[in-house]
Amino acid sequence: MVAFEHPHAHGALAPTAHLELPFFDDAHRALANGLVDWARAQRVDETDDRVACKAWVKRLGADGWLRYCVAAEHGGALPTLDSRALVILRETLAYHSPLADFAFAMQGLGSGAISLAGTPEQQARYLPAVARGEKIAAFALSEPDAGSDVAAMATQANETAEGWTLNGSKTWISNGGIADFYLVFAKTDLDAGARGISAFVVDATAPGLDSSEHIHVMAPHPLATLRFNDCAVPANALVGPLHGGFKLAMQTLDIFRASVAAAALGMARRAFAEAVVHAKQRKMFGQTLADFQLTQAKLGEMCALIDASALLTYRAAWLRDRSSTQGAGTPAYTAAAASAKLTATENAQRVIDMALQMFGGRGVQVGQTIEHLYRDIRSLRIYEGASEVQLLILGKHALRA
Ligand SMILES: Cc1cc2nc3c(=O)[nH]c(=O)nc-3n(C[C@H](O)[C@H](O)[C@H](O)COP(=O)(O)OP(=O)(O)OC[C@H]3O[C@@H](n4cnc5c(N)ncnc54)[C@H](O)[C@@H]3O)c2cc1C
Repeated sequence: MVAFEHPHAHGALAPTAHLELPFFDDAHRALANGLVDWARAQRVDETDDRVACKAWVKRLGADGWLRYCVAAEHGGALPTLDSRALVILRETLAYHSPLADFAFAMQGLGSGAISLAGTPEQQARYLPAVARGEKIAAFALSEPDAGSDVAAMATQANETAEGWTLNGSKTWISNGGIADFYLVFAKTDLDAGARGISAFVVDATAPGLDSSEHIHVMAPHPLATLRFNDCAVPANALVGPLHGGFKLAMQTLDIFRASVAAAALGMARRAFAEAVVHAKQRKMFGQTLADFQLTQAKLGEMCALIDASALLTYRAAWLRDRSSTQGAGTPAYTAAAASAKLTATENAQRVIDMALQMFGGRGVQVGQTIEHLYRDIRSLRIYEGASEVQLLILGKHALRA
């Protein structure tokens, strides 16, 4: 399987059609147009997700797109991480290849804590290499018994004369086994719950770290369980303040939550584009599938679901890019990001399912773009805060107001 062939990404169906909205400026429009041309030209063999993921990171790095994952002072494209640029990048990449989007997103998520709170030495060591695609990043928060309930984590970091020793395991770790470094969250005070967690940057070569247990999921996605067995890291592996890891994890996820919505949006737009082309071509009962009002109503519903997702996603990114008193970290942004993530991922699932139905038997044929999308979208409703978690964020925000 290669990254999706995409002969019909033009006109109103192009993923850049909404860029005239006031959320974006000319720099965003230029970014999007350049990216669409680039993405259309890429062909990557995605038969082996680990090999393909590495290839995408290399390409995205060599051609400058990963520079949007770090700030300019560390080799990035813009002075600070810009959520609207991230949203454009992820929406466009996901439209063309969900695996390319994944490879891009993990570079940002895996290095985000170092961008936010790393020492100048840590930033110099990791961030320029992330931006060039020379180091692959990973974010290791979840554990077998601590997914949605992050504070229940059991991995421990104990201080030693030389630094820290980590023991425990992390699971569902994207890029596990191919990453060059892991941003690992571990308990540094067992009795303090969320306030007893710290963040560490752990090189893949650290003694006592085993990332060989791969997990296979329904869509291409390199994942592994990490095991820390007296894994020794130096004192300068601590990222951010001691016991400040939970806050740092949440801040990192906050930056990228709107961009998960954008990835879902890109996949939904792709499914819609595929459905329109198919409906116009497919002959039945003396006319085309598109001639039936039932089909037109379905396409109308898909349009409305996509538009709602797009507006919420762009609003969340725009809010985050505002000044720190109005944007990032404020309750209004957190609620807007939750609304975008919830709506865009749930709507994309519905849009892709409706599109698949229009393809009939071909829709479930392995290797078809629509079949691939059907599998690709599923995990976005689970990771980086399941839909239920987003609903609770929104509900609590509503009660606080
Ligand atoms: C493809 C993929 C990639 C991932 N990549 C990473 C990664 O790179 N790094 C990382 O650290 N983790 C990663 N994860 C893990 C992911 O973040 C967790 O799967 C997620 O947080 C849910 O945790 P869990 O799987 O343990 O499910 P659980 O926490 O057991 O939740 C199960 C279900 O319970 C429901 N639920 C949750 N909270 C509530 C509630 N309060 N009330 C009612 N119902 C609720 C939700 O439907 C949820 O799906 C990844 C997961 C997947 C599938």
